[in-house]
Amino acid sequence: MGSQLSSVEGVHVVVVGGGFGGVNAAQQLQSQGLSFTLIDMRDAFHHNVAALRAAVQPGFAQRTFIPFAETFGDAFVQGRVERVDTDRQTVVLQGGAEIHYSHLILCTGTDGPFPGKFNTVASHQRAVQAYEDFVHQVQAADSVLVVGGGSSGVEMAAEIKTEYPEKKVVLVHSRVGLADPELLPSVRREAKEVLLRKGVELLLGHKVKDLSQLQLNVVRRNTMVTTDRGQTLTCDLIIDCSGLKVNAAAYRDDLSESVTVSGALKVNQHLQVHGFTNVFAAGDCAHVCEPKMAYHAQLHAAVAVSNIVKGLKGEELTSYNTGNVTMLLAMGRDDGVGQFNGWKLPRFLVVLGKSRDLLLWKSWRDMKQKYTQ
Ligand SMILES: Cc1cc2nc3c(=O)[nH]c(=O)nc-3n(C[C@H](O)[C@H](O)[C@H](O)COP(=O)(O)OP(=O)(O)OC[C@H]3O[C@@H](n4cnc5c(N)ncnc54)[C@H](O)[C@@H]3O)c2cc1C
Repeated sequence: MGSQLSSVEGVHVVVVGGGFGGVNAAQQLQSQGLSFTLIDMRDAFHHNVAALRAAVQPGFAQRTFIPFAETFGDAFVQGRVERVDTDRQTVVLQGGAEIHYSHLILCTGTDGPFPGKFNTVASHQRAVQAYEDFVHQVQAADSVLVVGGGSSGVEMAAEIKTEYPEKKVVLVHSRVGLADPELLPSVRREAKEVLLRKGVELLLGHKVKDLSQLQLNVVRRNTMVTTDRGQTLTCDLIIDCSGLKVNAAAYRDDLSESVTVSGALKVNQHLQVHGFTNVFAAGDCAHVCEPKMAYHAQLHAAVAVSNIVKGLKGEELTSYNTGNVTMLLAMGRDDGVGQFNGWKLPRFLVVLGKSRDLLLWKSWRDMKQKYTQ
């Protein structure tokens, strides 16, 4: 990204959301010497790539939360952004506090069901406790129903069966193909084979009826569940791994012209939000046609920061180009499937590259902190 800029007068970048995109943007701004504020409603970065392991392995969750303040000091502000006033170039926090920006990077990401995501605003210690409590529920159940066979559901079912091979695990998916549709058919087939080999029972092409009426994440012995095709199952614990939605509450009303039906922000090739030159979007909340991934969020953040710097220097802006899909699915700590740049990988490489540690080392290194128990 070129040489370091010493703080430029009048320039203050506000980054909303401290997920993979926001943290990467903040790190780059920090190393460029630019003045910035990172805002997140939580007090710690959540490495949710490892959330499903934290849901089955006691004592693991602590490693998946990395406090922001240690890394970013006063440049981190905890709060929920409720409005973006583009005329006055301020973001407004719950409670009324305002923070002025010259440039804004929106990285509010997506939310989905626990345990894949932790949506509650709470201290990270409470979040860790929520995962530890969840592990007890998994341990207490003899049979578990995982709803949704996208990548999260596939990983969840594999994690449970790896840690607790004696439990009955059934994965129900509304489609016939498992995992992300963007993956190579051979990778998706292999994911299915690994699940079957581990002993996961699959019910494909079935949708669970009245999911919202069912009690999730707590043991309720012999709960009866019916699918839209009339099949009935009984299980002790139901885990929902379906459906992510964009966190658009911070900007939906103020940037309504720039928001898609799903709540994502329309961006140009420089990742500038439609209608603005000083507002960027990165990560899951940016409307880019590619799988929603941490890896992509980090690439977006790099382009957004690079374009802020280039804009200040009067240089031509960088474009973001989608590439061939790289995606690794950890299927428990001992197996995994995936592809690199469009090429299917041998399973042992996925185990070495992802399944063992779930890339936790990388987030602790990026946050410049050491995990100590
Ligand atoms: C179980 C699971 C496993 C995954 N595994 C992988 C994987 O192996 N590899 C991969 O590349 N991707 C993976 N993903 C996808 C990846 O986690 C997401 O693509 C990534 O988290 C997106 O990063 P982000 O920064 O856009 O948003 P998020 O990570 O969703 O972060 C958004 C942040 O914004 C904050 N926020 C939202 N609204 C506000 C507001 N109004 N005010 C203040 N703060 C706000 C939230 O608190 C949150 O911290 C996985 C996802 C799940 C659920």
